[in-house]
Amino acid sequence: MSRRPECDYDVVVAGGGAGGVGAALGAALEGADVLLVEKYGFLGGAATTSNVLAYCGFFQQGETAIKAVGGVADLVLDELRALAVDCDPFCSPTTLNWIILLEPEAVKLALDRVLINAGVDVLLHTRVAAVARTADRIQSVTLAGMDGRMRIAAEAFVDATGDANLAMLAGLECRVGNGRGHLQAVSGPIRIGGRDLSVPIDRAALIEGFEVYNQSGKYPSARTDGGIFTTVPRTGEMWWMMFDHAMVDLSSQSFTKAEQAARGAAHDYVEILRRHVPGFQHAYLTSTGPQIGVRESRHPPARYDITGEDLLIGRQRSDSVARAAWPIEDHSIAGKPVYHSLGGDGFADIPLDCMRAKGLDNVFYAGRLIGADDKAYGSIRVMGTAFATGEAAGRAASNCF
Ligand SMILES: Cc1cc2nc3c(=O)[nH]c(=O)nc-3n(C[C@H](O)[C@H](O)[C@H](O)COP(=O)(O)OP(=O)(O)OC[C@H]3O[C@@H](n4cnc5c(N)ncnc54)[C@H](O)[C@@H]3O)c2cc1C
Repeated sequence: MSRRPECDYDVVVAGGGAGGVGAALGAALEGADVLLVEKYGFLGGAATTSNVLAYCGFFQQGETAIKAVGGVADLVLDELRALAVDCDPFCSPTTLNWIILLEPEAVKLALDRVLINAGVDVLLHTRVAAVARTADRIQSVTLAGMDGRMRIAAEAFVDATGDANLAMLAGLECRVGNGRGHLQAVSGPIRIGGRDLSVPIDRAALIEGFEVYNQSGKYPSARTDGGIFTTVPRTGEMWWMMFDHAMVDLSSQSFTKAEQAARGAAHDYVEILRRHVPGFQHAYLTSTGPQIGVRESRHPPARYDITGEDLLIGRQRSDSVARAAWPIEDHSIAGKPVYHSLGGDGFADIPLDCMRAKGLDNVFYAGRLIGADDKAYGSIRVMGTAFATGEAAGRAASNCF
């Protein structure tokens, strides 16, 4: 690793979700000078922007929790434990998968700390807004922050924006959704306070409440089973995923409609709890999150796309740098998720070529942007796997010059 004098950093990471934090830590552990840029005022990605309050993909499916992701993700879990978040695997009663339950304020602080400890420079309230490139490399990014615009040159770049913003700005042709015009549904997980914790949540009452609401309510839910809910660690709030919305495209107009519908639904659904479900008489909405949960947007071109078949047979490879262990979770039909278990030993290997940009030698992908066909995407996008692919991308980025 030998940085040219015209470069400000060895590695710039765009996006501070699980993929970006994994990448920044991986690069820093290789000895790189790293800058991570995040458009919100906090780190965490979907966990903190959209109330996605469980790390999936850390463990394989099965009767016991077998660890599939370690490395820098363990540093994050250590910081969470120091904030009294129990990071032991929890078996989700609705999906029978092993997850780690999260509380978003602890996630924000833990991620601040883990990056500060690793010596990563972080710029919050700053977005990657433009790219300068040659035929086969990105030379610099223009950042738009509170103090205006600045140009940062680096040897290597990691796109961990979830939406392929860096790749798109670099002019790479991205696939939208499954490439045949279909995007996975967005969802609006919410948090609810004020419930009587001594009363177990009555799923049958929940279902009944929705049977009534769906007849004439403005935001009928396609989930007929009461949705997925758990209790948020540290706060005791109910975490609930009940609202899904089909996306027709990635236009600002469609996102506006989705945000408005999710917000309207959140208020109506809490009212359903108050009226129909014991223990919720005094319940109130605590958070819809800064934004709706976006499952899928753009996929940038990678040197290899891991396939649904790789996962279903649990393909193992000699060039593996990370493991996918979460079942393929398909949200093609809003509100009707379908799970397909991984075959073989219960995980599939991910090669580095999934993290390498096709056509740009110093650009890597992390998190939900890695090369994957539309089936495999239903697995590799989860946050546990995103830490692992991020770490691999960050380590590779620090060693590409
Ligand atoms: C409703 C829903 C439920 C889900 N359930 C689970 C679950 O239970 N468990 C699980 O593990 N996964 C779940 N997922 C999937 C998971 O949340 C995402 O796939 C995962 O967060 C991807 O991580 P990432 O780091 O790639 O992207 P993200 O988490 O999206 O992070 C990307 C970050 O980049 C930032 N960014 C974007 N553009 C720019 C820019 N131009 N400049 C600077 N910063 C930028 C964003 O603000 C964001 O912080 C769910 C997703 C949704 C939508």
